[in-house]
This record gives sequence, C-alpha cells and structure tokens, in this order.
Amino acid sequence: LWITLEGGDGSGKTTQAALLEKWLRAQGREVLRTREPGGSEVGVLIRDIVLHHRGDIAPRAEALLYAADRAHHVATVVRPALERGAVVVQDRYLDSSVAYQGAGRVLDADQVRELSLWAAEGALPDLTVLLDLDPADARRRLDSADKPFDRLEAEREEFHQRVREAYLGLAAAEPGRFLVVDAAQDPERIAEAVRARIAAML
Ligand code: C5P
Ligand code: MG
Repeated sequence: LWITLEGGDGSGKTTQAALLEKWLRAQGREVLRTREPGGSEVGVLIRDIVLHHRGDIAPRAEALLYAADRAHHVATVVRPALERGAVVVQDRYLDSSVAYQGAGRVLDADQVRELSLWAAEGALPDLTVLLDLDPADARRRLDSADKPFDRLEAEREEFHQRVREAYLGLAAAEPGRFLVVDAAQDPERIAEAVRARIAAML
C-alpha cells in the first residue's frame, strides 16, 4: 500500500506522516516513511540543489531535477519497499510537481505530469491525502512554529494560491485516488479522517 501526502508548505504533511506511521506500526505493519525531494542518498543531493538555488534555477531545469529525484527514489526506495509488502507513507510525490512546477512556475501542467509519470514508470499511489489549507493560515502557522527560516517567504502569496488551486483541481480530477482534508482542523481529527480511509484499504 502506497500513501502520499500532499499540500502546501505548512499544511501539516510531516506531522500527519508521523501520526500515520505510528498508527500503522501499531497495526503490525512494516512502514517505510519517506519523502520527495530527498528520499534517497542521491535525492538528498538533488534536494540540496533545488532548495538552495530556488528562484535562480530555470523552471524546466527545476522540473527535471525533481523528476530525477523521483525516478531514482521510486526505482530504488519505493518499489522495493512495496514489493516486500511494506506500507509506504510518503511526504510529497508527483502532484507536488504538477502544483509547484506546473501551476506555481507556470510550466504546462500536463507536460510536467507526463515528465513525472515517465520518470516513475507510471507508478501512482493507492491514496493521496491532500491537506488543504489557505496559504495565509499556513503562514501564520509557520511564523508561530519558530522555524529556522520561513519556507513560505521564498515565494509570493500568489504563487501559493496557484499551488493550492492546482492541488484542488488535481483532487477533483481523480476523486478515487484523493482524500481532501481540511488542514485547518486539529491534527488529531485530521489523523482520524486519514485512518478511517486507510482502515478500509488494509
Ligand atoms: O519540507 P518540504 O519537503 O515540503 O520542502 C520542500 C520545499 O520544496 C517546499 O518549500 C516546497 O515548496 C518545495 N517544492 C517545490 N516543488 C516540488 C516539491 C517541493 O517547489 N515538486
Ligand atoms: Mg514538511
């Protein structure tokens, strides 16, 4: 079983991934918790490039770097874990690229999706949890969380609004794969909604 978490910066993906991992382990499942970018050794290097040169990488080069991270991650980390029966809980996947490099950077969303699918040999998760949150709420949350730097500060407000709209469009286009959750709720309530959906899939 392969579950991905999506949503804007500060929407609580990492928190939910940790809660989900804990719950799945309590059910006796083997869990691989991973993320993109940076879920492999090579990916850590790519993550370093994309995050430290954000804004000064040509948009297509950025899209290719994310795709390269994804190709290596799926081939060497995700697929082997799924093949041995582990549940993979993954922070960000190809919907991030469609939303950020597509809508955010104004590349063609369909081309970005095709690039990602090519990179991942067509692999799609069983479930994608979209943590939907107004970027203004996310900003308040990150500001109060004493983060080392404000991740939202790197891009303008409109960028994050476009990302949010793109995510909602993706979820509407594939209702069977997506579970959309209001991320302004209490984390424990969100976790319950996620568990209810996954329990039916186990
Ligand atoms: O902590 P996290 O992995 O979510 O941070 C990665 C950063 O990279 C985020 O700020 C996110 O906005 C950005 N990102 C991106 N395009 C992607 C994936 C992540 O711009 N496809
Ligand atoms: Mg995170």
